Amino acid sequence: MALLWAMCRKKNEGGVKMVKVFIAPRRYVQGVGVIKDIGKYVAPLGKRVIVAWGPVVSEQFSAVVKKSFEENDIQLIPFNFSGECDRGQIGLGVEKAKAEKAEVVVGLGGGKAIDLAKAVAMEIDAKLVTAPTIASNDAPTSAATVYYTEEGNFDGWGIWPRNPDLVLVDTQVIVNAPVRWLISGIGDGLATWFEAEAAYKGRRAALAGGVATQAALTLARLCYDTLMDFGIDAVRDCAEHVVTPAVDRVIEANTLLSGLGFESAGVASAHAIGNGLTEFEECKPYSHGEKVAFGVATQLCLDGDIDPDERLAVFDFMVDLCLPVTLEDLGLGGMSPESLKDFAEALCVPEQITHNHVFTVTPFDMYSALVAADRLGRSRKALTA
Ligand SMILES: [Zn+2]
Repeated sequence: MALLWAMCRKKNEGGVKMVKVFIAPRRYVQGVGVIKDIGKYVAPLGKRVIVAWGPVVSEQFSAVVKKSFEENDIQLIPFNFSGECDRGQIGLGVEKAKAEKAEVVVGLGGGKAIDLAKAVAMEIDAKLVTAPTIASNDAPTSAATVYYTEEGNFDGWGIWPRNPDLVLVDTQVIVNAPVRWLISGIGDGLATWFEAEAAYKGRRAALAGGVATQAALTLARLCYDTLMDFGIDAVRDCAEHVVTPAVDRVIEANTLLSGLGFESAGVASAHAIGNGLTEFEECKPYSHGEKVAFGVATQLCLDGDIDPDERLAVFDFMVDLCLPVTLEDLGLGGMSPESLKDFAEALCVPEQITHNHVFTVTPFDMYSALVAADRLGRSRKALTA
C-alpha cells in the first residue's frame, strides 16, 4: 500500500517533465444477456478456462456458463473460492490453475471474485476476464487487486502490469442484484471527477504511473455528468429490475468511466477518507462506495475552488440516493471531536493521497472539512425530511 500511495504522489519535481500514461482493458462488452454468450467472447483467448466464483454466484450462474462454454468447445475448470480475496485463497487458485494448465482466468461475481481472478491470472501469466454481477465498484476494468485478511479486513493493494483482456458486463444481471449496489457504485463514481481534477491540478501521477491524459480527464468528467443526469432515474428503474437507457448509462459510468478515470487520472482526499473509514468497526456494514460518498462530501468542503452551487447540488443528489453525507449515516454519530481530530491526523500523514491536492492539507484543514461536511449533510437532509 505504501508503494501505491508513494507512486500516486509522485509529481513533476526538479523540472523533469512527467509522462502521461493511459491504461485500459483490451475489450469492454456491455449489454442485456451477454452472460449467455460468455463462451463466444472468451473462446478467442483460450480453451482451458478457470472460473473463480463464490458459493452464491456459482449456484446462480454455473448452468449458463457451462452451456455457453460447451457450445464453444471450452473446458470449464470451476474454482469455488470462499468469497474472500485473501492470500490463502489466491494461493489455492494459483495451484489449481497451474495443475489444470489454465490459459484463461475468469472472475465472475463482485469485486472480490474479480480481484482474486486478477491475482491468479497474473501469477500464472494467463489471459484475464472480469465479469461483474454488481456495479458497486470500479474493480472490473483496473489492473489493481485489493487484498483482505480471512476475516475480511483490508490487507493492502497490488498493481499488476496489465489490465483485463475482456470485461463482460451483463446489464440484466446487474439490475437483478439489490439496488443498493448500483447506488454504492454511484457513490464511488462521484469521486472520480473531483479526484481526477484535484490530482491533475497538482500534476500528481495516477495509478497508471503518469499524469492524466486529456482522454482520462474527459472520461472522468463524463462519468460525473452521467451520474448527475441519469443517476436518480437509473436507481428508480434498477429497483424495478429493468434495463432502461438511464440504467445502461449509469452501469457504464460506474464500471467503465469510473474505472478508467480513477486509474488513469488520479485519486485524492475522497478515497483517502473512504479507505480510512474502513478502520472503524462501526463502518464495517457499509460498502466501499458508501464510505467514499462521505469522502466526496468532505473533499467538497475541503477544496475552496468548488463552486458552492455545485457543492449543494452534489449533496442533494447524494441525499436523494440515501448515500451517506453525515457521520451518523456511517454509524459514527457519537464520535468525539478528539477521535475526529485523530482521524484527520491519520489522513494527513505524508504518504497519504490527501496530499495529491495542489494546496497543502493540514490535519486542521481536514478536521474542519469533516465537521463542515457533516454539518452541511445534516442541514440538507433536514430540508427533505
Ligand atoms: Zn473506489
